[in-house]
Amino acid sequence: MNQTPLPCRARAEIDLEALRANVRTLRARVAPHVQLMAVVKADAYGHGAVRCAEAALAAGATWLGTATPHEALALRAAGLTEPRIMCWLWTPGDPWAEGIEAGLDMSVSGLWALAEVTAAARETGRRARIQLKADTGLGRNGCQPADWPELVTAALKAEAEGLVRVTGLWSHFACADEPGHPSIVAQLDTFRSMLGHAERAGIRPEVRHIANSPATLTLPEAHFDLVRPGIAMYGVSPDPAIGTSAGLGLRPVMSLKASVALVKQVPGGHGVSYGHHYVTPGPTTLGLVPLGYADGIPRHASQRGPVLVGDRVRTVAGRVAMDQFVVDLSGDEVEPGAEAVLFGPGDRGEPSAQDWADAADTIAYEIVTRIGARVPRVYVGE
Ligand SMILES: *Cc1c(COP(=O)(O)O)cnc(C)c1O
Repeated sequence: MNQTPLPCRARAEIDLEALRANVRTLRARVAPHVQLMAVVKADAYGHGAVRCAEAALAAGATWLGTATPHEALALRAAGLTEPRIMCWLWTPGDPWAEGIEAGLDMSVSGLWALAEVTAAARETGRRARIQLKADTGLGRNGCQPADWPELVTAALKAEAEGLVRVTGLWSHFACADEPGHPSIVAQLDTFRSMLGHAERAGIRPEVRHIANSPATLTLPEAHFDLVRPGIAMYGVSPDPAIGTSAGLGLRPVMSLKASVALVKQVPGGHGVSYGHHYVTPGPTTLGLVPLGYADGIPRHASQRGPVLVGDRVRTVAGRVAMDQFVVDLSGDEVEPGAEAVLFGPGDRGEPSAQDWADAADTIAYEIVTRIGARVPRVYVGE
């Protein structure tokens, strides 16, 4: 039984050696000419963008990817001046000029974005690097096939005027995490035809790309010139249908741990936490875990979330509150300060982020990404 007190209430341990190993594993899955863009949006899925970006680059990533321009600019400001950084979620009025000055690769999904980026290029007197995004079937961001010729023509005109350079053509899958889903082949066909149109029209992209983690892992024909893994780099399987982390040769990077704040004896029939949804079946010991939904523990996992305390996995008893929840220790003697492990790589029998996803009816992506700012990230394996 490991009851070593932790230095603080709770922490998310981030194993950078595991992250580097995952990047090397993913690199080994793609042909040598295929580049790897480490997706570090949303603070690297809750793992810490700058540290994870540095580790991914050290292990062979050559690009970084973020959603918003602000995330990309923050990486540059943190000293990541060399790598290519692409960002894809632009909103009218966003900082295009700063993006140009920072040398970002900026995604353009429609004419409004092309108009804003060309205006910023005129204003700064510098050529913008843009990547045209095709909606090949996801139905989210990206340019519809029917509107593609007009966007391509306008981009070529801006290129001829020296305002932009089209560095990439790209898209994103809807169902790559469901191997065999008919939309996968359909999206690849549409992507090839949209690429064909753009290239015949005269676009000369440096990179063409569509593969997220599941496509990187299962779909070599989708690798093109670059792959964009996110979740797999953090050692979490995109979906149980694709495999477990271990089965995919990946190691979970984040371990979420807390120190048990209080242990006490209670009689049988005692209600536990708001609403008394749990009532002790008999005399027992309760352990208080000082993490709650303000820290990203899903309230939806009330009565279900698994936690390793001592040498046994316990279940959240009653509701998850804002700052804390309770586990029934079934009479076991546990000292205050003992370690409670919510999820980790599983070496000691602790649950996985996927177990929490199952308990909260969500996906493991959400479990790691939502861990709140109040939980310090502690880096190991530098
Ligand atoms: C988040 C994201 C990725 C990475 O997806 P994973 O499934 O985590 O690998 C890749 N590309 C785009 C456009 C994204 O938004």
